Amino acid sequence: MNPTWVQHFIVLGTLLGAGDTSTDTADTWCYEDPKCGPETWAALGHCSGTRQSPINIVTPAAVHNPHLGAVSLAGYGDAGKLISMENTGKTVYVHLADGLHLSAQGLPATYTAKSFHLHWGQGAARPGSEHFINHKGFSMELHIVHTKNNLSTTDALKDPEGIAVLAFFLQATAHARPSPSWDSFTQHLKKVALKGEDTDLEGSFSLRELLGSVDLARYYRYQGSLTTPNCDEVVVWTVFPDPILVPPDVVTAFPSILNSTDSDSGPRLQNNYRPLQSLGDRQVEASVALRVAPSSSSTPRPAALIPLLISIAAITWHL
Ligand SMILES: [Zn+2]
Repeated sequence: MNPTWVQHFIVLGTLLGAGDTSTDTADTWCYEDPKCGPETWAALGHCSGTRQSPINIVTPAAVHNPHLGAVSLAGYGDAGKLISMENTGKTVYVHLADGLHLSAQGLPATYTAKSFHLHWGQGAARPGSEHFINHKGFSMELHIVHTKNNLSTTDALKDPEGIAVLAFFLQATAHARPSPSWDSFTQHLKKVALKGEDTDLEGSFSLRELLGSVDLARYYRYQGSLTTPNCDEVVVWTVFPDPILVPPDVVTAFPSILNSTDSDSGPRLQNNYRPLQSLGDRQVEASVALRVAPSSSSTPRPAALIPLLISIAAITWHL
């Protein structure tokens, strides 16, 4: 995750402090330079905590929770809610208007979407997702960031379930159907090639269109953190294992168009993902729809046995 408000905190912290104000505060952490990359983040905020993200999800180890039905997304089909796209130097960030609401069993409240952003690698040949499924990464990962009961982001950080993130994988494949919404998304990237640039989206596409046909009933749920400093442990994660299939040129567009600085000769904006973190003693839950079907149709399920048992009981009674 790379919410700009985290950067705003860092900027604010520097402004309030007596530090060297000539330092570019957005560069206090980074992805690719060993001096400020993820290996150094342990010293920042909560980044060395015990419920960090992202994680590798081992699907046979996930616990099925019978209460985890499909998530309900209200307003996500409204293209007018996508306000603008911004290059933050760490990701491409889309600001959302109020009115996109996430609810689902297993969530303690209704959550309101505030923004979304992506993580990627160096093109279609190398995975750039943050989460892995059974030790397998995907081309990219999309994070929709929500706050509980439409809290301000400041207040959401004080609640251990203050933020809910929906994580969707993107997988490059030559067999993907053309996607007008992702084509439009990548066209807009050209207007935010440099860090600090932004552009209005003017109803070009909706979030629902970007999500394609992903089944919203199939997901994993766990308690984790922001994946960028300060790595606050306040996130309820919902990770959808079925990727959004996109043509390879969609994935290639991000690192080839976007720059991590305000100069087009600066480093590319690429490999902006945090390495996997330890699951520790946490448990990942699987939604109802991910329950594995019985291996043989000839094996009666317990529910199917109930009428039989009732019949036997009735016969026994009459005897
Ligand atoms: Zn993210």
